[in-house]
Amino acid sequence: MPDISKRAASLGTENAFVVLAEVNALARQGRDIISFCIGQPDFPAPEHVQEAAIRAIRGGKHGYTPSAGIDELREAAARYLAAMRGGLPIRPEDVVIGAGAKPFIAYAILSTTDYGAGDEVIYPNPGFPIYESQILAHGARPVPIHLHEDRDFAFDPAELEKLITPRTKLLILNYPHNPTGGCLSKTELQEIARILAKHPQVWVYADEIYSRLVFGGDFFSIAQVPGMYERTIISDGASKTWAMTGWRIGFTSNPVLAPVFTRWITNTDSCASQVSQWAAVEAINGPQAAAEAMKASFLDRRNFIVQLLNDVPGVKCRVPGGAFYVWPNVTEACRMIGAADSEEFRKRLLNEAGVALLADIHFGARVPGEGQHVRFSYAASKQAIEKGVARMADFIRKNTKKAA
Ligand code: PMP
Repeated sequence: MPDISKRAASLGTENAFVVLAEVNALARQGRDIISFCIGQPDFPAPEHVQEAAIRAIRGGKHGYTPSAGIDELREAAARYLAAMRGGLPIRPEDVVIGAGAKPFIAYAILSTTDYGAGDEVIYPNPGFPIYESQILAHGARPVPIHLHEDRDFAFDPAELEKLITPRTKLLILNYPHNPTGGCLSKTELQEIARILAKHPQVWVYADEIYSRLVFGGDFFSIAQVPGMYERTIISDGASKTWAMTGWRIGFTSNPVLAPVFTRWITNTDSCASQVSQWAAVEAINGPQAAAEAMKASFLDRRNFIVQLLNDVPGVKCRVPGGAFYVWPNVTEACRMIGAADSEEFRKRLLNEAGVALLADIHFGARVPGEGQHVRFSYAASKQAIEKGVARMADFIRKNTKKAA
């Protein structure tokens, strides 16, 4: 049998998909599992967006499109990205449409670092696991920057200053943040920009896929800070805002790198689905009532789950500023039930109480001194949230008694 490459053999993954397989296996055995694993809105795409896709199919929009996307969507996305970001001078030709925002993580790393050259990429830890796996797969050096609970899961800019070297080529930021729901404030982004001003070789990948799910105040992008626009790759998309994860539409903008990303797409996907592109034009240009209603519903559920979790013995939960994730601290709960760490806690909770979560280690190595955390995606019904958290509380109480 021929070998597979070392690169492919060591490729990382999203452990959400691994846990999902465990959950599905238990469900097939007839177990009743309440799952908080999936990172996607629990709504259908808006009706008028569905209709636009059907019109595209019936209207014969079946072929390839230019690799950068149809003009109509590049124009709509440029206007949209700019309007959300204080009127940045984003032109349609600066915007590239992809099959989701995810592929641009790879294209950004591939376009700013060289394989095996010692180029460094700084990325949030905990963080979306694809950052680290793609940095490694493309032969760059991963440099995690730690997020801290006492900063509402932001990093300390002083730590960033220490991590940047002449070899740093890319800084990945993500706000609102997966998995913690944390945001970076305007002041924090200005401070980051002040540090970056001393290091002009560093690009920024601003993963702003949750930009429409900010609960306190307006969204603010680091690209809006003076001096940051040209070096910032802005990444957003249709997945989270309009509940279109399976439609696969992302839009990324940078005035220098847009033609480079376009060439990567010609080398890989050729283009995003034409049907989905027409649907995304309607999502952006059409009524925003559905997106606003979804956001209101997430805010309501955020408040609900944070309150419930803070009543669970041994659990402390901060109020996250965005996305649809909470990242409660379960250090004390682990101690109470005699679980060695959050991963043992997660496994026992799944097998003994039928509640599926992800553990902190699914989002990178645990940050020293920060304790144990788990992630709930609260894109679930309030009934499921109430029942799931109640099961978790019962599980902790029952097992604490046993330990005592
Ligand atoms: N970035 C982050 C932080 C995410 O959580 C996700 C989706 N889980 C993505 C990017 C990718 O989104 P998509 O490819 O669906 O646009």
